[in-house]
Amino acid sequence: MDGLTCDGCGETLLLDSEVRYVLRVEGFAAYDPLEITRQDLERDLEEEMRRLLDVLAKKGAEEAQDEVHRTFQFDLCPRCWRDFLQDPLSAIRRPAGGG
Ligand SMILES: [Zn+2]
Repeated sequence: MDGLTCDGCGETLLLDSEVRYVLRVEGFAAYDPLEITRQDLERDLEEEMRRLLDVLAKKGAEEAQDEVHRTFQFDLCPRCWRDFLQDPLSAIRRPAGGG
């Protein structure tokens, strides 16, 4: 992330290659559109809010943030950029059903 070396392979950027690539990754929690039912309106929202705040208070700020929104930025050399484009999800892919 310093713009001087490739975060993939450690190669010196702009000395060893004429172009560098900046990869920005943003991940955030997505919720389905809210559908409000009578049951929702009858819930004790104050109690629920207290429970939620209690859960959040027990988590660290970073853990709570990780669950909602994170961004990353990486510098890549042309070779690592091509490798990334080949399979952007390679780092997180697991066999189906493997958990
Ligand atoms: Zn590289």
